[in-house]
Amino acid sequence: MAPLNDLQTAFLASLPTFDSTNTSFHAASCHCGAIQYTVTLSPPLPLQKVGSCNCTICTKNGYLLLYPRRQDVVIHQGEEALKSHSFGQKQLLHRFCGACGSSVWHDPRLKTLGEEMPDLLGLNVRMLKGVKLEELDIVAFDGYGNYPFIGDSAHLQEVTTP
Ligand SMILES: [Zn+2]
Repeated sequence: MAPLNDLQTAFLASLPTFDSTNTSFHAASCHCGAIQYTVTLSPPLPLQKVGSCNCTICTKNGYLLLYPRRQDVVIHQGEEALKSHSFGQKQLLHRFCGACGSSVWHDPRLKTLGEEMPDLLGLNVRMLKGVKLEELDIVAFDGYGNYPFIGDSAHLQEVTTP
């Protein structure tokens, strides 16, 4: 297993520490409601940095990202409706509703990079019920330029002649 590069290390260092005494709890769903889940965030949502990433998958799908632990995301309904798309190095699984197409989260599958890695989901904050985007602390994130585990999406930049 390759050691983490500086960017991966910086990403991990940017993640908040989970404190069970300082959380917020949210219901979430895709647009059609087939997929229903809840998430516990720590620190609470107003104190979270929400990532607006410029990589191809986030740009195409409008991801605004939080990284809760997988154990803090509970699917109550519709797991079977989740479809997957991966690309580039196939590290990351983009997960979306097969009925309505909502981009619910991406699974970075960090455990495949080493047992010491945290088990996180890249949750699309847009799925949280009642979320007010204008109240979020949204920070730009250069996934396209920097993160090799997001994958090489150069094919999306190609121009094909009909
Ligand atoms: Zn749906």
